[in-house]
Amino acid sequence: MNDILITAPLPDFLKQPLLATYACHDYHGAADKAGLLAAVGTKIVGLVQGGGSLAPVELLDRLPNLKIISVFGVGYDGVPVDYCRGRGIKVGHTPDVLTDDVADVALALTLTLSRQFHLANRYVQAGDWPRRPLPLSTSVTGKTAGILGLGRIGKAIARRLEACGMKVGYHGRAAQTVPYTYYPTLSGMADAVDFLIVACPGGPATKNMVNAEVLAALGAQGKIVNIARGSIIDEAAMIKALQAGTLGGAGLDVFANEPHVPAELLAMDNVVLFPHVGSATKETRKAMGDLTLANLAAYFAGKALVKLIPELQ
Ligand code: NAP
Repeated sequence: MNDILITAPLPDFLKQPLLATYACHDYHGAADKAGLLAAVGTKIVGLVQGGGSLAPVELLDRLPNLKIISVFGVGYDGVPVDYCRGRGIKVGHTPDVLTDDVADVALALTLTLSRQFHLANRYVQAGDWPRRPLPLSTSVTGKTAGILGLGRIGKAIARRLEACGMKVGYHGRAAQTVPYTYYPTLSGMADAVDFLIVACPGGPATKNMVNAEVLAALGAQGKIVNIARGSIIDEAAMIKALQAGTLGGAGLDVFANEPHVPAELLAMDNVVLFPHVGSATKETRKAMGDLTLANLAAYFAGKALVKLIPELQ
């Protein structure tokens, strides 16, 4: 049996097949992590982690025979890709199967922010309907959305927003052949749109890319939606802009220091907060689990990974 290190809490539908197929070592749950590494580190050939979890170089250095990391998620910003390339470690992930569910969350955040469904729900549940009118909200129809990162999820978001009668633009490192307006700069796009929707990968290249200047360009009527990674937005600058009224609102599924959410955001009415639920449906998580297993199985069968990350192809 091949020895596998598990560094994240996993659902049963993924954990049980792993336990049945491999000699699994629970690094995430281990009280004595150093002791576990000392005991089994040299035997480990595979590692399973979550999309948001980290595989620090210091940990990987303790696993000299590691051959494959299988990420239970599409985002692999927690994996040191250059280091893995240098050691010949394969990295698998789970793109495509979660695209529609994540795009649905972006749509939900956009609609909720604009139509204030969170306040409408709170109003009815608080028994306020017979007592006072609910202020009018803002239509999304005819408004403009700019998508940062028009990839698999970004395109699925674009289709949904178009169906709502919104105009769509995008920013990425290059223009694509798509029926949407390309903005060569992020600030230029933020200046032109009503909604800025973040859908690019996390990691060093995009850290704090949505900074104070971009938020100022989005402006007092502008709203930001983030379903990608908390690291992409300068969270302190966003909070400052929301407090000052120079940013109109924020719909966030992801945060810089999950599961901890800055206290300032909790009390704001123009903010909608989700606990990283982009792919959190039974159907999608099962499909992600199957792909996580398939990547491992392919490696140990001597075949190409089903979904190898692009940088290692
Ligand atoms: P994808 O298909 O690889 O798309 C990423 C897009 O981002 C590409 O179009 C790319 O376009 C753009 N991009 C990459 N680097 C960039 C940079 N430095 N500056 C500007 N744009 C950049 O990935 P995906 O499947 O759509 O997933 C996107 C991200 O969503 C994942 O990486 C993950 O972090 C996040 N996610 C979140 C959840 C959740 O639960 N909330 C679930 C799944 C995924 P160019 O190459 O043209 O720049």
